Amino acid sequence: MKAEVLCVGTELILGDTINTNAAYICRKLAKLGINCFFHTAVGDNPQRIAHSIDLAIKRADLLIVTGGLGPTDDDITMQAIAEFFKAELVFNEQAYEKIKNFFASRNREVPQKARKQAFFPEGSEVITNPTGTAPGIAWDVQGKHIIVLPGVPDELYIMWETFVENYLGKFSEYFIEKKFLKFFGIPEGSLGEKIKDLMACENPTVAPLVSEGQTNIRIAAKAKTKHEAGILIDKMQNEILSRAGEYLWGYDEDTLEKVVGSLLVSKGLTVSAAESCTGGLISSRLTDTPGSSGYIKMNIVAYSNEAKINTLGINAGLIKTYGAVSKQVAAQMAQNVRELAGTDIGLGITGIAGPTGATPQKPVGLVYIGLSDRSRTEVHKVNINPGFGRKTVKHRASSYALNYLRLFIK
Ligand code: ATP
Repeated sequence: MKAEVLCVGTELILGDTINTNAAYICRKLAKLGINCFFHTAVGDNPQRIAHSIDLAIKRADLLIVTGGLGPTDDDITMQAIAEFFKAELVFNEQAYEKIKNFFASRNREVPQKARKQAFFPEGSEVITNPTGTAPGIAWDVQGKHIIVLPGVPDELYIMWETFVENYLGKFSEYFIEKKFLKFFGIPEGSLGEKIKDLMACENPTVAPLVSEGQTNIRIAAKAKTKHEAGILIDKMQNEILSRAGEYLWGYDEDTLEKVVGSLLVSKGLTVSAAESCTGGLISSRLTDTPGSSGYIKMNIVAYSNEAKINTLGINAGLIKTYGAVSKQVAAQMAQNVRELAGTDIGLGITGIAGPTGATPQKPVGLVYIGLSDRSRTEVHKVNINPGFGRKTVKHRASSYALNYLRLFIK
């Protein structure tokens, strides 16, 4: 079984809307084990839609079309598909009732044009849209399977979950399961070197992916059942972790801030942060997790030297002797914020985000991260590649800080 995705909408062609529907559908097809070799976007133009359908059905058995099902004159997908397959559009009373109920439940008049959304190619099955007015269709025609869904992503997702997933189950020949392993503190090249032989495997496949300065490994297994795919993944994961397990911090949807939060909760610890170069980014990331008020007591952004001295009580002599971006100041920021907030752990961060502010001894990207508890204080020096700009330096600095905080708690 080969599938293709055709997304209709001039906004996709103009680059005003990113084609997230294609990404969603392709991910879902891969999971179902249905091959998809092409996805296309086309504007709201009848000839070009017909041309795209023609190309797609020459290459595939299943075509999934999204968008252009609205009530307005430029929404022409259903007509274009019916015309292509030389079928009549037939009024569906039941679907129209649902559309009328949709408006009634919102105390709105049914617009004249909404009737248009209750016409479907003869012989097609209507897919109910639980959250919008545009129903879709599943249609077996001329030896091909055609599925049409609305363009609004949230409507499409629900219709996929409630109808399409089941409908396509019968075409699925195998199951694809994926797992992401997330690493920090090891460059892609070094990790790649450690698992070079595993990257040549065909099933499961192993691929390193770099995202926001962190290296992830994707393991993807193909099997007849989800269980069998899971076994293949577990085996490969164990092998990878036996080689690079010390750098692993999480899996799949994990974020560093979530992992740090869970560790703080499990150990019953509290934390406070004093930030300079990250301008509050660490605080923002840490507070992204619901329930973070249980472990974060106080965060201070002390950007200027005056703020460091007056608010955090940093020794002016330290700044004068070593500079605000120094190991000594990072250590004192961590110690002082911990004492001010009365937390178990204090984190201090100071660095040069750039593009200005560097000296020959202190380049852009130089960051010191201090961590302190009642018994010890440690400082880590990192040099972040400034090539991607200030925002990236700040973000990576916050990731380093969260990772060192994670290791400190452990
Ligand atoms: P409606 O009933 O709202 O008119 P529709 O099926 O006609 O639904 P479109 O008008 O094509 O859908 O698109 C509605 C909105 O959905 C667009 O403004 C766009 O924001 C979003 N959208 C459409 N297609 C895609 C796509 N392929 N990827 C992401 N978003 C999309």
